[in-house]
Amino acid sequence: MNRQYEIACECGRKVSVSAGQSGTTLVCQCGRQVTVPSWGELLRQETRVAVAGTSEQASYSPLAGWVTGFRWLGLGLILLAVLGMLYLYRTMPSLPDLHRVPPAVVYNYFRVLRTGVDGPMPRFERDFIEHERIWRGLWDLVILVAIVGAILVAGITVAEWWEQRHQKRVAEAEDGDEEKTPPE
Ligand SMILES: [Zn+2]
Repeated sequence: MNRQYEIACECGRKVSVSAGQSGTTLVCQCGRQVTVPSWGELLRQETRVAVAGTSEQASYSPLAGWVTGFRWLGLGLILLAVLGMLYLYRTMPSLPDLHRVPPAVVYNYFRVLRTGVDGPMPRFERDFIEHERIWRGLWDLVILVAIVGAILVAGITVAEWWEQRHQKRVAEAEDGDEEKTPPE
């Protein structure tokens, strides 16, 4: 039986050849010359096509959609956390520049600091404490979001790597079997 193999022309057409045509040059419908590879190369190409077909089928599994979704979710969370960190960094609470605060307030502030008397807390300091409390809470939240995102992405990457390694082993095992069977 004269088995047919397909080789690709640059134009995208598939040219059908037999093993006996190895090393010869054919002319495609587009006019380009197509060199038929050696029989060994034809066999290797056929194996690659078969392996590609297998992995394509595997990617149709409903899990693959979930994996992609979770990966985007993880990347989105990381991006969100980075933006949040940038925003929080810019709005980091700080006590106001004392040169800009009315002198009476500054005087009162230093008097409270020096004497340790529980006088009425200056408004800007009260604001600072309140602002910082909220800021710290937001910062913790952003860190948590970043960690969740990183765990998602890392987990999916490791799982995919594991799956690919497994598929590669299966493909290699199949290759091994093919080599054992004598060529027709
Ligand atoms: Zn062509």
